[in-house]
Amino acid sequence: MVSVADKFNRYAAALGVGLVLAIVLFLTTSHKPVLDPKHPLCEQRPYIEPEYGHLANSSQFVSEEYKKKSVELFAGAIRIPTMSYDDLAMDPTKDERFNVFKDMHNYLFKSFPLASKHVETVNTYGLLYTIEGTNPSLKPVLLMAHQDVVPVNNDTIDQWTYPPFDGHFDGEFLWGRGTSDTKNSLVAQLEAIESLLSQGWVPKRTVILSFGFDEEITGFRGAYPISRLLHERYGTHGIEVIVDEGIGIVPFGGSIFASPAVTEKGRVDFKILLNTPGGHSSMPPDHTGIGIISELAFELEANPLSPVIQKGSVVEKFFDCMGEHAADLKDSERKKFLRSSTHDKLLPILESDPATRFIVKTSQAIDIVQGGVKINALPENVELQVDHRIAVHQNLDDLRSRMNEFVKKVATKHGLGLEFDGKTILKKTPLGSFNVSTFGGMNTAPISPYKGEVWDLLAGTTRHVIDDVIDHPYGPVFMAPSLMTANTDTAHFWDVSENIFRYLPVFMSDTNNIHTVDESLNIRSHISCVVWYYEFLVNACN
Ligand SMILES: [Zn+2]
Repeated sequence: MVSVADKFNRYAAALGVGLVLAIVLFLTTSHKPVLDPKHPLCEQRPYIEPEYGHLANSSQFVSEEYKKKSVELFAGAIRIPTMSYDDLAMDPTKDERFNVFKDMHNYLFKSFPLASKHVETVNTYGLLYTIEGTNPSLKPVLLMAHQDVVPVNNDTIDQWTYPPFDGHFDGEFLWGRGTSDTKNSLVAQLEAIESLLSQGWVPKRTVILSFGFDEEITGFRGAYPISRLLHERYGTHGIEVIVDEGIGIVPFGGSIFASPAVTEKGRVDFKILLNTPGGHSSMPPDHTGIGIISELAFELEANPLSPVIQKGSVVEKFFDCMGEHAADLKDSERKKFLRSSTHDKLLPILESDPATRFIVKTSQAIDIVQGGVKINALPENVELQVDHRIAVHQNLDDLRSRMNEFVKKVATKHGLGLEFDGKTILKKTPLGSFNVSTFGGMNTAPISPYKGEVWDLLAGTTRHVIDDVIDHPYGPVFMAPSLMTANTDTAHFWDVSENIFRYLPVFMSDTNNIHTVDESLNIRSHISCVVWYYEFLVNACN
């Protein structure tokens, strides 16, 4: 017999167990909210409302009337075919293909007469504008762009909807080579400064504009001598901030992200020569030089570099910003982007897209192979060249030792010698020898700070311009520091400023076909640049 009291006790016990179970289940199935507003991973900085004083408001640039004027100024620069060819002479006075830059100068001097009172040329075609500030204790601000464009391939001219150097405007887009890269920013910077000067503006902080003329072929003729001149004038890190071409405003997950690149990937190329004994091909060894170097190529590609997101890196920060501020992400998706160094959910997503995979890993491209001269003769000299763009978690030495290991393995297997950057790794043998040399070596650029005064200036200006001045179909903009997977002229300026941002205030959805057929830009993203440079200069120098 079970008493009523016993029954009650059992019910109570069952209820108690049930309650505990329910609480445990509740605690394990309900989770902390994915986002914690009190501890943001990607803090957004306040808007900056420019203090114009006697100056006109930046809304002067968003009228239909100004747009017409701006299109003409921009199109005029597109009509001058300032193409950079790989085989141009190092001395610009020794190659008449540079003469077109004279036309560019004449055009810019005529179109922006007030700015032109402040210009000097550097190494014949580099343009350096200096508007002296009244307070010499303030470090100057430097805006950069390049005058040159990549060549238009003659075979593709008839594929262009509008000829590449006509500067055709269709009412929305300006078409032509250089519209996106980067006569847009060059002309916009001059429009902003011309407007300021026309209003009698005298900056407190010196303003400098620097326009190289061979960015597309490494910048050693244009940006490099300008960088040395500025270093001489203002000293190491004597420039407060540099803004050059770079990443723009990226749409993602229902939000938009202004993504100044705070660093750019490094680069290294390897030239691998293999010398083996010649002879008649009727009596060949099992492996000719071509076979052996192919084995090396196969091994390199069979072992690609791994993707990595390092804790605390700008890469992690970039994806934290996306995860935290993308409006339309489901929580399950959001989690993949947040704190991505602590789990492996994001890497496969990035790896699957050619546009994102090289943000997180070093690239490897075998671009040149040469060898063999005659069908009945063994190849004596064979060559392989490999290009790497180095990710932020690696450096030159990592890549050198990796290449050394791969070549050593193949050399050992075939009984060959190996010399690496002049150092003997394996002694030369009668069977032959590898000779590896490194060139174009450059580590990842120093990281510009993405918090503090200068970042706040960039962020506050961007938020004001994009959210309050420019008309566009998107919601509010968020700042997300990023990295460039390619190189810019700023590679020559590491000792000139600690704050280098590769950034264009353009909507990435407005730019089409950089470096290829039908390059074009929505004029909205030209106006957004004019407004941004104008407000940035007012905020930084007024
Ligand atoms: Zn460019």
